[in-house]
Amino acid sequence: MKNKKPIIAIDGHSSCGKSTLAKGLAKHFKYKYIDTGAMYRAVTLYVIENMLFRKKNIDEIKLKNAFENGDVKIGFQYNPKTLKSETFLNGKNIENKIRGLEVSNLVSPVAVIPFVRHELVSLQREMGKEGGIVMDGRDIGTNVFPNADLKIFLTADAKIRAQRRYKELKDNGQDVSFDEVLKNVTERDKIDSTRKTNPLKQAKDAVLLDNSHVSIDEQLKNAINLVESLT
Ligand code: C5P
Repeated sequence: MKNKKPIIAIDGHSSCGKSTLAKGLAKHFKYKYIDTGAMYRAVTLYVIENMLFRKKNIDEIKLKNAFENGDVKIGFQYNPKTLKSETFLNGKNIENKIRGLEVSNLVSPVAVIPFVRHELVSLQREMGKEGGIVMDGRDIGTNVFPNADLKIFLTADAKIRAQRRYKELKDNGQDVSFDEVLKNVTERDKIDSTRKTNPLKQAKDAVLLDNSHVSIDEQLKNAINLVESLT
């Protein structure tokens, strides 16, 4: 292992349980967990709340100014009550707001914007530089930490992924249909894997895991073995 405390990168398609696996690993090894998708979602919420999305266009100039003026401050805070790390935007807890379909439907177009990626990738590198971290996203193993000690690329059948996300949203009281969720999942995959800047793709040295028919526990066990086999 190159770092004393490893950097573990988990990338993959939308809604395939990357964060569940990443959190499980972080808990097991007492590493930090960073959900980079939440950071793109936070920027998207900023765009929505500040009406920077109009007539199907994102006002990139205003968004860039907002970054330059320090008006888009993203952070995470551990909540001992929920035992979860929650996302903050400019000091406000936005964890629930960023998980709904409104944000999900705009996040991939926001994540395409090169300066947004540049800003967030710098933050992610800073957060992970000491190691002892599990970071999940789309470009962690290919771009954010190309020298990560372990790279996992996670996928699953699109309908199975949509079904899981649909159940999660329904359980959270959201009014959505299965078809809407499936459309969102497949469209995000398409935008994420065809964008010019840091597209979603499997790093050459990533381990591919398909969890369509694998339980959460089984998958975690496999991943723990992978971490333990790092030399
Ligand atoms: O992981 P999650 O589904 O919450 O990510 C939301 C969106 O953020 C993705 O569909 C993708 O457009 C974007 N994203 C990204 N790069 C990352 C993490 C997320 O482009 N590293």
